[in-house]
Amino acid sequence: MNAPTKTQDFPQFAEKAETPRVTVAFGDGIGPEIMQAALDVLIAGGAQMEIEPIDIGEKVYKSGISAGITPAAWDSLRRTRVFYKAPITTPQGGGYKSLNVTVRKSLGLFANVRPCTAYAPYIATRHPDMDVVIVRENEEDLYAGIEHRQTDEVYQCLKLITRPGCEKIVRYAFEYARAYGRQKVTCMVKDNIMKLTDGLFRKVFDEIASEYPEIEADHYIIDIGTARLADQPERFDVIVTPNLYGDIISDVAAEIAGSVGMGASANIGESCAMFEAIHGSAPDIAGQNIANPSGLILAGVMMLVHLGQGEAAARIHNAWLKTVEDGVGTGDMKPETETLGTKEFARAVIARL
Ligand code: NAD
Repeated sequence: MNAPTKTQDFPQFAEKAETPRVTVAFGDGIGPEIMQAALDVLIAGGAQMEIEPIDIGEKVYKSGISAGITPAAWDSLRRTRVFYKAPITTPQGGGYKSLNVTVRKSLGLFANVRPCTAYAPYIATRHPDMDVVIVRENEEDLYAGIEHRQTDEVYQCLKLITRPGCEKIVRYAFEYARAYGRQKVTCMVKDNIMKLTDGLFRKVFDEIASEYPEIEADHYIIDIGTARLADQPERFDVIVTPNLYGDIISDVAAEIAGSVGMGASANIGESCAMFEAIHGSAPDIAGQNIANPSGLILAGVMMLVHLGQGEAAARIHNAWLKTVEDGVGTGDMKPETETLGTKEFARAVIARL
């Protein structure tokens, strides 16, 4: 996705190589199956890219690298600045850091953009008119990694909110709304309780909203906002929110749109971008050829738009939509006509290109 921010802020987006290099991680659990399926669809759809595969996740953790990513993988990311990533398994407990958090912070991927759209009547949902984009702040808040033990019984995690961080994400949300013809941006925070941190986010939101008079701006406190989103998602258009709230409400939104397996996300920074499904590595269904590759395919569509390959993006998106309209899908999509495995679903999309 071309960052809909001012071009002078992001000159690198104007300097695309003819055939861009893309760093690709096949991930853990269902990752390898869905990444292969998604790459097959992208390549068949005319995506122009040279792939640099890297290892991340379980294999790397087990080799003793607690960050879950090798120096060679960082070199690739620095070279390509575009990362197409399958989900990874984060080891529970121990001294392991979340690789997802490390990558987002190290590459400065400040905006996590998660469209959640209903595909009614083809995918069952109680919210056929839902079309929400969640713009989640991606580097600060309780995910800043400032967590420590005070005593054996007291642990502390610091919520970090900065004015520059708020300004970047809120402006991104309004520029996104303007670029994509959206009518309204909603801010969700808990500023009645966290008056300084969430209060700053809300204050910056109000300041920046005043620069976009053509776009409606409103607020919800996050708890009632989440309840309204779950019950009447068609009320919302673009939502901008700090990191933790955004993480939670985007899974809620993806699930009520039809399936978490269809959720895609773009992680956008000033010089790098990463594209991934919103779900995890789903170890419970790994290796069975039943996982839905749609989230990763749609993330690939966002990546092609970012790379300036709009035609291929539209072709692939339309083929995926046609597949869904034909009642064809993986089991989690509860398709009307035909339930297919991961590979077969990818072939069905390719047949409609
Ligand atoms: P999950 O998203 O992997 O799975 C939750 C449920 O949704 C499971 O029942 C799973 O089978 C189902 N599901 C998920 N994706 C699906 C798909 N594409 N098709 C069909 N069904 C699908 O969440 P989890 O089980 O809580 O986490 C598993 C692992 O993934 C953990 O180690 C977690 O840390 C990691 N994780 C990684 C990422 C990432 O890499 N971006 C994101 C979230 C979780």
